[in-house]
Amino acid sequence: MGLFTRGITLPRGELTDTELIEAPLPGKVTLPVKQHLGAPATPTVSIGEAVTVGQVIATSGGNSGIPIHATISGKVLSIEEGETFTGAVVPAITIEGDGEDTWGAFPEQSTAADTLSPSELLERIDEAGLITRGIIPTPLKGDLVPLDQPKTHLTTDGRRVVQRLDTLVITALDPEPALAVNRFRAHAEQPALPVGITALRSITGAEKTIFVVDKGLGPFPQLETLVRADEEETTKLVGIPGTRYPAACAPVLVKNLTGREIPLPYGHPRDVGVALYDLDTVISVGEALTTGRPPVDLLITVGGGALERRGIVKARIGTPLSEVIEAVGGFSEPPAKVVVGGPMMGMAQYDLSVPLTREAVGLFALSHGEITLTEGYRECINCGRCVRVCPVNLLPGVLSLYCAKDRFERAEQLGLFTCIECGCCDYVCPSRRPLVHLFRHAKHQLMER
Ligand code: SF4
Ligand code: SF4
Repeated sequence: MGLFTRGITLPRGELTDTELIEAPLPGKVTLPVKQHLGAPATPTVSIGEAVTVGQVIATSGGNSGIPIHATISGKVLSIEEGETFTGAVVPAITIEGDGEDTWGAFPEQSTAADTLSPSELLERIDEAGLITRGIIPTPLKGDLVPLDQPKTHLTTDGRRVVQRLDTLVITALDPEPALAVNRFRAHAEQPALPVGITALRSITGAEKTIFVVDKGLGPFPQLETLVRADEEETTKLVGIPGTRYPAACAPVLVKNLTGREIPLPYGHPRDVGVALYDLDTVISVGEALTTGRPPVDLLITVGGGALERRGIVKARIGTPLSEVIEAVGGFSEPPAKVVVGGPMMGMAQYDLSVPLTREAVGLFALSHGEITLTEGYRECINCGRCVRVCPVNLLPGVLSLYCAKDRFERAEQLGLFTCIECGCCDYVCPSRRPLVHLFRHAKHQLMER
């Protein structure tokens, strides 16, 4: 794998791979009716109503939505608009816990995913409310079988053609080297993983499976056993340099694994015959199928130099961010910045009472030494460093000039929407130009028109 020439090299997070910190059961959870890109769910409970863990409290808002489940037992305290960590304001259902953690009744499920038809599997995935984890979180059901274009795929020249998915790629890489949920799950025994793989191969029709791992973190006995157990030799394991960033992003990963180019800016791995999911998602599919229960917990990486402790935290969806931070012992010093996501791509937070929702992959409290202040940034000196690191071959410096002068249409012509907001250009810019900030602002302006 000598193709990871663009991007930058970052240190791995200092997390151990075995440390799992369980956050205490929250006294109250707030569950926004939209925790992904797509349609919001519709509340089905009323204020004062008693709910059990796993109970549907809002039904799926159409084909591009997911149902919302109660993550603690108790009573519905309120249904009102609130802010999420993404800055969106959406209706949210707040449940006051009874401390009992009582689950509702769930029918016994068959563990044999190969006995269910693809449509039955999709139905179970839909009922569990699973979403894809990553840059663009969407309902998993819609991602597996896009409901608007079920059989067609985009090509690099913009045509739509019928194309079969032939390869299931399961990546144990995390979106950034500082994040660690996938690598944590790759090392811990995961009985539900084979079930998830069987289900996704059945739905997609993929004949091959490729596990992608960070070659600096091996061995991976669990994955190696699955490769050896495949007598038809349709499963393989590929190690790549996990500290190269953004090696895990879809266009870069798919190109390096298969040589196929995802048409940008609006293409998807399936457009080139690849179903790409991270390990955490595949295990969640297996767990939902074997238990019949929707996931109510989330595994996220909690890190940063302003925290007492760092690790993989398991917390109930809807827990306030402040309680997740308390679960690792709180702040060791006043943080310079708190972000949801990783240090490179995360979203800055100003109110830690907002809830942890499904699309979160990390929570970092960064110390002053871990951030670069961009105040008083300087003019572009045309050094070209940003061009050399951009993984999708843009000219970030030039783009930033058009964005800063509000010439958004020109920026769009130059590939603004191809930018995956990885932040590599920001990271290397000697003039400390806030490039990603300018790109996000420009995209937002264009989408508002
Ligand atoms: S222009 Fe976008 S994709 Fe390219 S390095 Fe900058 S943030 Fe990453
Ligand atoms: S790295 Fe910064 S200074 Fe250099 S060309 Fe890019 S935007 Fe300009």
